[in-house]
Amino acid sequence: MHYEARGPGRTIPAMLVARDFRFEAAHQLPDHPGKCRHLHGHSYRLRVVCRAPVDERTGLAIDFAELKRIVHEEVLDLLDHAFLNERFPIPSAELVAVWIWDRLAAAGLTLDEIELKETESCSVIYRGEGLSHGPRIDGGEGP
Ligand SMILES: [Zn+2]
Repeated sequence: MHYEARGPGRTIPAMLVARDFRFEAAHQLPDHPGKCRHLHGHSYRLRVVCRAPVDERTGLAIDFAELKRIVHEEVLDLLDHAFLNERFPIPSAELVAVWIWDRLAAAGLTLDEIELKETESCSVIYRGEGLSHGPRIDGGEGP
Protein backbone atom coordinates (compact mmCIF):
# COMPACT_ATOMS: atom_id res chain seq x y z
CA MET A 1 0.00 0.00 0.00
CA HIS A 2 1.28 3.42 -0.93
CA TYR A 3 2.10 5.59 2.06
CA GLU A 4 0.88 9.18 1.97
CA ALA A 5 2.71 11.45 4.38
CA ARG A 6 0.32 14.28 3.55
CA GLY A 7 -3.39 14.26 3.30
CA PRO A 8 -6.57 15.91 4.46
CA GLY A 9 -6.32 16.74 8.13
CA ARG A 10 -2.76 15.42 8.36
CA THR A 11 0.06 17.66 9.52
CA ILE A 12 3.76 17.24 8.84
CA PRO A 13 5.07 14.74 11.40
CA ALA A 14 7.49 16.17 13.96
CA MET A 15 10.14 13.55 14.65
CA LEU A 16 12.62 12.95 17.44
CA VAL A 17 15.86 11.67 15.95
CA ALA A 18 18.50 10.22 18.29
CA ARG A 19 22.06 9.09 17.82
CA ASP A 20 24.48 7.67 20.38
CA PHE A 21 28.16 8.51 20.68
CA ARG A 22 31.03 7.58 22.93
CA PHE A 23 34.24 9.25 24.05
CA GLU A 24 36.94 8.69 26.62
CA ALA A 25 38.10 11.50 28.87
CA ALA A 26 39.81 12.17 32.18
CA HIS A 27 38.81 14.64 34.87
CA GLN A 28 38.94 15.41 38.52
CA LEU A 29 36.58 17.49 40.63
CA PRO A 30 38.88 19.34 43.04
CA ASP A 31 36.20 20.31 45.55
CA HIS A 32 34.29 17.03 45.48
CA PRO A 33 33.94 15.56 48.98
CA GLY A 34 34.28 11.98 47.72
CA LYS A 35 36.63 10.06 45.47
CA CYS A 36 35.82 12.16 42.38
CA ARG A 37 38.44 14.65 43.55
CA HIS A 38 41.09 12.16 42.42
CA LEU A 39 42.16 12.06 38.79
CA HIS A 40 40.21 9.39 36.93
CA GLY A 41 38.59 8.69 33.57
CA HIS A 42 35.22 7.78 32.12
CA SER A 43 33.95 6.14 28.97
CA TYR A 44 31.31 8.79 28.40
CA ARG A 45 28.21 7.96 26.41
CA LEU A 46 26.40 10.84 24.74
CA ARG A 47 22.89 10.62 23.29
CA VAL A 48 21.84 13.55 21.14
CA VAL A 49 18.12 13.88 20.43
CA CYS A 50 16.96 16.36 17.79
CA ARG A 51 13.44 17.41 16.94
CA ALA A 52 12.53 18.30 13.39
CA PRO A 53 9.70 17.98 10.88
CA VAL A 54 9.93 15.21 8.31
CA ASP A 55 10.96 16.73 5.00
CA GLU A 56 8.38 15.79 2.37
CA ARG A 57 10.94 15.54 -0.39
CA THR A 58 13.63 13.46 1.34
CA GLY A 59 11.47 11.68 3.90
CA LEU A 60 14.06 12.59 6.53
CA ALA A 61 13.89 14.84 9.59
CA ILE A 62 17.62 14.87 10.41
CA ASP A 63 20.14 12.98 8.31
CA PHE A 64 21.97 10.55 10.63
CA ALA A 65 25.22 11.14 8.74
CA GLU A 66 24.92 14.90 9.11
CA LEU A 67 24.15 14.52 12.82
CA LYS A 68 27.25 12.35 13.21
CA ARG A 69 29.43 14.86 11.35
CA ILE A 70 28.30 17.80 13.50
CA VAL A 71 28.70 15.96 16.81
CA HIS A 72 32.18 14.81 15.84
CA GLU A 73 33.28 18.27 14.72
CA GLU A 74 31.75 20.21 17.59
CA VAL A 75 32.21 17.81 20.50
CA LEU A 76 34.09 14.56 20.03
CA ASP A 77 37.10 16.03 18.23
CA LEU A 78 37.59 18.29 21.25
CA LEU A 79 36.69 16.00 24.16
CA ASP A 80 37.77 12.51 23.13
CA HIS A 81 40.90 11.51 25.06
CA ALA A 82 41.07 14.98 26.60
CA PHE A 83 41.79 16.06 30.15
CA LEU A 84 38.55 17.92 30.78
CA ASN A 85 40.00 20.15 33.51
CA GLU A 86 42.01 21.94 30.80
CA ARG A 87 38.76 23.12 29.21
CA PHE A 88 36.32 23.32 32.13
CA PRO A 89 36.92 24.95 35.53
CA ILE A 90 34.51 22.34 36.92
CA PRO A 91 34.33 19.35 34.55
CA SER A 92 31.17 17.83 35.99
CA ALA A 93 28.81 15.90 33.73
CA GLU A 94 26.28 18.69 34.25
CA LEU A 95 28.50 21.48 33.01
CA VAL A 96 29.99 19.44 30.18
CA ALA A 97 26.42 18.69 29.04
CA VAL A 98 25.55 22.40 28.96
CA TRP A 99 28.68 23.11 26.91
CA ILE A 100 27.78 20.31 24.48
CA TRP A 101 24.24 21.64 24.14
CA ASP A 102 25.44 25.17 23.42
CA ARG A 103 27.90 24.05 20.74
CA LEU A 104 25.45 21.76 18.97
CA ALA A 105 22.70 24.38 19.07
CA ALA A 106 25.10 26.99 17.66
CA ALA A 107 25.96 24.55 14.86
CA GLY A 108 22.30 24.51 13.87
CA LEU A 109 20.93 21.34 15.43
CA THR A 110 17.36 21.67 16.70
CA LEU A 111 17.94 19.86 19.97
CA ASP A 112 15.27 18.29 22.09
CA GLU A 113 17.46 16.64 24.71
CA ILE A 114 20.95 15.39 25.33
CA GLU A 115 21.98 12.71 27.79
CA LEU A 116 25.55 12.39 29.02
CA LYS A 117 26.38 9.17 30.85
CA GLU A 118 29.49 8.96 32.98
CA THR A 119 28.86 5.38 33.99
CA GLU A 120 26.33 2.64 33.33
CA SER A 121 24.13 3.96 36.12
CA CYS A 122 24.85 7.71 36.26
CA SER A 123 23.79 10.25 33.66
CA VAL A 124 22.59 13.81 33.30
CA ILE A 125 19.82 14.85 30.93
CA TYR A 126 19.66 18.43 29.68
CA ARG A 127 16.86 20.04 27.70
CA GLY A 128 18.30 23.53 27.41
CA GLU A 129 16.24 24.81 30.30
CA GLY A 130 17.48 26.96 33.16
CA LEU A 131 16.33 27.81 36.64
CA SER A 132 18.82 30.48 37.70
CA HIS A 133 22.39 31.57 37.20
CA GLY A 134 25.06 28.93 37.72
CA PRO A 135 28.84 28.83 37.54
CA ARG A 136 30.51 29.84 34.29
CA ILE A 137 31.76 27.01 32.10
CA ASP A 138 33.20 28.93 29.16
CA GLY A 139 36.71 29.18 30.51
CA GLY A 140 36.09 32.72 31.74
CA GLU A 141 36.05 33.77 35.33
CA GLY A 142 35.53 30.79 37.57
CA PRO A 143 32.66 30.56 40.03
ZN1 LIG B 1 34.26 11.32 37.22
